[in-house]
Amino acid sequence: MPQTYLNADLHCHSVVSDGTLTPEQLAQRAAARGVELWSLTDHDEVGGQHRASDAARAAGMDYLTGTEISVSFAGSTVHIVGLGFDADDAALTQGLYDTRNGRGPRAREMARQLELSGIAGAYEGALRHAGNPELISRTHFARYLVETGVCSDTYEVFRRYLTEGKPGYVPHTWASLRDAVHWITNAGGVAVIAHPARYDFSPNLEYALFSEFKQLGGQGVEVITGSHRPAEYLTYADMAREFELAASRGSDFHSPDESQIDLGELPYLPAHLTPVWELLQERIQRA
Ligand code: AMP
Ligand code: MN
Ligand code: MN
Ligand code: MN
Repeated sequence: MPQTYLNADLHCHSVVSDGTLTPEQLAQRAAARGVELWSLTDHDEVGGQHRASDAARAAGMDYLTGTEISVSFAGSTVHIVGLGFDADDAALTQGLYDTRNGRGPRAREMARQLELSGIAGAYEGALRHAGNPELISRTHFARYLVETGVCSDTYEVFRRYLTEGKPGYVPHTWASLRDAVHWITNAGGVAVIAHPARYDFSPNLEYALFSEFKQLGGQGVEVITGSHRPAEYLTYADMAREFELAASRGSDFHSPDESQIDLGELPYLPAHLTPVWELLQERIQRA
């Protein structure tokens, strides 16, 4: 039976990256909202995978290992989700370690620039919000600026301080698309382009991203995601068909206080697409 109408949530974040809940709290929240197949996809980290799969089993959900890798492509940052890989694979864990490694110096430079804009103590402040000191992200700075009353919510922080051209934005070089796709696929997983509508690429660059990704062995694209508007579900359902990619579904949930879409809440995948979990049947850890 094709499992298109499965409540799968294959994209969310815990305190191991920039979420505010533990892997165990996320598992319970996902199960309580009817999620049947879950994946924790922390940025550039697999440190929460064993906890997440244990908690999924305890909550009665099937589980796929996950991560969301930061990639530099054509001068922009693109996110590649990996699903169903061996979380102990040496090349993958080393690659993620190297990808995380630049975050410390970047954070210090962000704080230095914010200081010039009159915001003091941002490095220490952001670090206090980071559950994993190796993974200090813009989200942690955003929480510090909300905490200190500089902005009223994290969206305002990104708009005023943390996006390209704004005072706290520091350009950064992440992993290459080739490396990210190869780390995932060589570890037995499936690589998925995360939230493609978020990148603001020209049609030519978007075509280049999808073509190169496909050539490198990428097999999936997020169609139904908390980072897409409903009209974008249709656009990327068409792209999935055009590039013969499997489709994924995930909330991109980070926090009960910040995320507009909760775990397991999104519409099902369109029926005419191949769900990414059909490619991963033997990688699913059954409840
Ligand atoms: P980083 O990996 O440190 O560049 O941080 C990226 C994270 O910041 C993303 O994973 C989102 O959680 C968050 N983020 C990026 N852009 C925005 C935005 N415009 N509004 C709110 N959160 C954002
Ligand atoms: Mn994030
Ligand atoms: Mn992302
Ligand atoms: Mn994400």
